[in-house]
Amino acid sequence: MADPIVTEEATSNPPAFQSWGRYPKHNATIVPLNWQSDFPRVAEGLHNGALPVGMGRSYGDVCLLEGGNLLLTTGMNRLIDFNPETGVLTAESGITLAQILDFAVPRGFFLPVTPGTKYVTLGGAIANDIHGKNHEVAGSFGCHVPCFELVRSDGTRRLCSATENPDWFAATIGGMGLTGLITWAQLRLKPIVSRLIDYEGIQFHGIDEFLELKQKYQHVEYTVSWVDCVSTGKNFARGVFMAGDHSKTPGPLTQTPEPKLALPFDLPGFLLNSTTVSMFNTVFFHKQMKPHVKTLQDYEPFFYPLDKVLHWNRGYGKNGLLQFQYAIPWEHAKEGTIAILHEIAKSGLASFLAVLKAFGDIPSLGMMSFPQAGIMFALDFPIKAGISFPLMERLGDMTRDFGGRLYPAKDAAMTASQFQTFYPQWQNFARYRDPMLTSSFWERVTQNA
Ligand SMILES: Cc1cc2nc3c(=O)[nH]c(=O)nc-3n(C[C@H](O)[C@H](O)[C@H](O)COP(=O)(O)OP(=O)(O)OC[C@H]3O[C@@H](n4cnc5c(N)ncnc54)[C@H](O)[C@@H]3O)c2cc1C
Repeated sequence: MADPIVTEEATSNPPAFQSWGRYPKHNATIVPLNWQSDFPRVAEGLHNGALPVGMGRSYGDVCLLEGGNLLLTTGMNRLIDFNPETGVLTAESGITLAQILDFAVPRGFFLPVTPGTKYVTLGGAIANDIHGKNHEVAGSFGCHVPCFELVRSDGTRRLCSATENPDWFAATIGGMGLTGLITWAQLRLKPIVSRLIDYEGIQFHGIDEFLELKQKYQHVEYTVSWVDCVSTGKNFARGVFMAGDHSKTPGPLTQTPEPKLALPFDLPGFLLNSTTVSMFNTVFFHKQMKPHVKTLQDYEPFFYPLDKVLHWNRGYGKNGLLQFQYAIPWEHAKEGTIAILHEIAKSGLASFLAVLKAFGDIPSLGMMSFPQAGIMFALDFPIKAGISFPLMERLGDMTRDFGGRLYPAKDAAMTASQFQTFYPQWQNFARYRDPMLTSSFWERVTQNA
């Protein structure tokens, strides 16, 4: 089982709660919540603000609060109710998607939307209004949440839905934990008849071929691509387009769990250089030996290939990693993506994991939600002094110039001015913030405002 990342780093005493990128490293006091009634009682007398957190699977500082108090929700993880007629599950917010899958899949149900790891909490999924490989047909996570309870630091409890307290509902979906604590929520699951996925993988060369494949496979529920952002010349923007549907043939719903590998220590940073990354990308591209592969595979490797190695983020060494993730609207999506890929290749900053995908036009319910119709692109960078942050700022500016926006859940580097351009509604949103709650992200991106 994967737990929130709480470590005794040399720099921290008491133990530090880390985000997935392991940057920035901030000390905070961890305040476990075990019961829905714990908040706001446990917060009485706490100084320096507080922030509810889940599994710490956000990459940057949206789940951190320097010198403050982190209200750790993972002990508040009970399943409350499940209606097999409607598929509506009710659970406490600290339950993880992994726990929901363990319960739901053997009963013939699946998550309506899932990110690339199942080790996130229900509360974290709502607060970042996460998206999955089926954004074009399902929208983002909040579209499948009929209601939840929001508790404020003054003790008020609100039931929030599209019809009850709809403004609080909209502010809290994608509200980055700042509007209050989500104690429990409902989630509409969808029926499946097998845990298997009908999978197709197709090699492509360049953004035009990617766009053609996206068009051709629009009838398939899940699509995502891996793209090589190191190669230039004839291999520029080559990649593998991956498409999958839940199998419609009744099949297995249970499976003996496979053992997980774990990276027990930090790899030295020098292992990650353009030669090793280029080798990795070539191997990955040719792992799929044929240009077109069709198989039936379990949902675990399809949705969660990275979960196979617990704590793979340690592969980036002690300094940690930065993720850069944008959504650029269709109008400038192609030229923006090509320009940004050239800028990344030119920088020579290696990246193993680059993901390209289309967002559809189903509107998100959250006031601050990230998805917008167009191209979504995400990749990791190692942190290298003097290089990584200037590059991130340049890429953020390019995203802005192409009319796009960056994803707070993955960010540790966007400037206040970039954030305020990406999310011009932020001041309206700020009216819903709980006066006790804040985050290092929020303090960073609203400074000088
Ligand atoms: C390998 C990997 C793949 C990923 N793939 C995707 C992807 O495909 N799509 C995507 O959208 N994201 C993706 N993510 C990001 C991840 O899904 C989000 O960051 C998610 O919100 C993390 O949930 P968490 O439980 O770890 O919450 P945390 O990271 O601990 O917190 C996230 C936010 O939720 C708030 N929060 C947490 N619990 C509550 C609560 N009970 N009440 C109110 N606020 C709360 C926090 O304050 C914080 O702002 C990925 C992350 C990893 C590591």
